[in-house]
Amino acid sequence: MSYDVIVVGARVAGAATALLLARAGLRVLAVDRVAFPSDTVSSHQVQVPAAARLARWGVLDRLVAAGTPPAREVRFDSGRVVLTGRYPSVDGVDALYSPRRTLLDAVLVDAARSAGAEVRERFRLEELVWRDGMVTGIRGRGARGPAVTERARLVIGADGKHSAVAAAVGARVRWSAPVRTFASYGYWSGVPLPSAELYHRDGHVVAAFPTGDGLSVVYAATPLARFAAARRDLTAHHLTVLDRCGDLGARVRSGVLAERLRTTPDLPNVVRASHGPGWALAGDAGAVMDPVTAQGISHALADAESLARAVVAGLAGGRPLGAALVAWERRRDRRLRPMYDLTLRTAALRPRRTDHALFAALARQPAEVGRFLGALAGIVPADRYFTPRVVLPLVGAAALRRAMSGG
Ligand SMILES: Cc1cc2nc3c(=O)[nH]c(=O)nc-3n(C[C@H](O)[C@H](O)[C@H](O)COP(=O)(O)OP(=O)(O)OC[C@H]3O[C@@H](n4cnc5c(N)ncnc54)[C@H](O)[C@@H]3O)c2cc1C
Repeated sequence: MSYDVIVVGARVAGAATALLLARAGLRVLAVDRVAFPSDTVSSHQVQVPAAARLARWGVLDRLVAAGTPPAREVRFDSGRVVLTGRYPSVDGVDALYSPRRTLLDAVLVDAARSAGAEVRERFRLEELVWRDGMVTGIRGRGARGPAVTERARLVIGADGKHSAVAAAVGARVRWSAPVRTFASYGYWSGVPLPSAELYHRDGHVVAAFPTGDGLSVVYAATPLARFAAARRDLTAHHLTVLDRCGDLGARVRSGVLAERLRTTPDLPNVVRASHGPGWALAGDAGAVMDPVTAQGISHALADAESLARAVVAGLAGGRPLGAALVAWERRRDRRLRPMYDLTLRTAALRPRRTDHALFAALARQPAEVGRFLGALAGIVPADRYFTPRVVLPLVGAAALRRAMSGG
């Protein structure tokens, strides 16, 4: 049997793409080398726009029913001021959720299957199949048995930041930046969080969110240059960072580390050309950035939705597929660029004087805090928030001049 679309990788980008394509009536095969539920090295703040997408697809209820708590209140601490507020809502969803990847990815895989997609777990892509310069399928193998070939009109690589599909097609790097931070995160019991907490400090960004099973997930970003020293004792490093965040360190130390701490310096910033003859890339395979702004899942789900729309238009709607994919990639880049720039700025882990001037102004204008939190979360486009037109009236011309001149 041949398929309309084969999707390689079945986590947030792949399973969501398969779900939406199958719902549109296409014949879809999704493969993944792991079996679900499966964890991965990733914390899992699902920002409000992504939660709104999951709600629209009928998936959010299952995460909530499985015990994922909402985080509506946010406490942002810059070391000089503390701002508290709520995220702006998107399509009636007003909370961030932090479901474990063992839950989120498995629920999306189930939803894709229910929509009619065939999902093969423990199936590893070995190579792409080509004809006349065009990708026409995949070759790979399951846990047992010989290698098999499957054919499709389009192969989508949703196989993550070290995408084998991107490598095989030679996807060109369009924008990139060196790795800036390394991440460490842990799951703690006995550390109740009345609200989500964000700390932006010189040398660190820290985020703490409630997840399922009564646990709190606490994430710390540290400059990559400090990785070698931190490696001597990663848990001690993590706790020392939290000690610099008000009483968070003390609260975490009074709790219990429920699972081993996860740490990784594998945090590339790369955006690739994401389509060509017979292939496309979704999620991290096409665009990956430092998780300091926790945007990867949002990006993967938004990508799934807009790519699926383009593919349906190209394979079932009478529009040439190539033209639909050109337009899709252009839209992806327009959506991504402001957050990519904000992410690189945040990953420098050094708030600027103008940032501190904005935080101080917001502390005097609490009604404005929600929109600021919305810009950090990707609800309000960063390029429409961090502009003189928005910041100047908040901060005031004299204070902004002083901040810019270092006074
Ligand atoms: C430390 C850390 C913390 C993060 N925290 C957050 C956060 O709080 N919020 C957020 O939004 N994002 C976060 N991210 C980013 C997020 O993890 C990614 O953006 C997201 O997982 C990308 O989803 P994806 O489906 O594109 O790729 P992945 O989740 O990487 O999935 C790719 C899948 O492809 C499969 N695969 C790969 N190769 C093959 C092959 N040859 N054959 C078959 N299958 C294959 C893999 O098994 C995998 O299941 C974090 C990332 C890191 C590293």
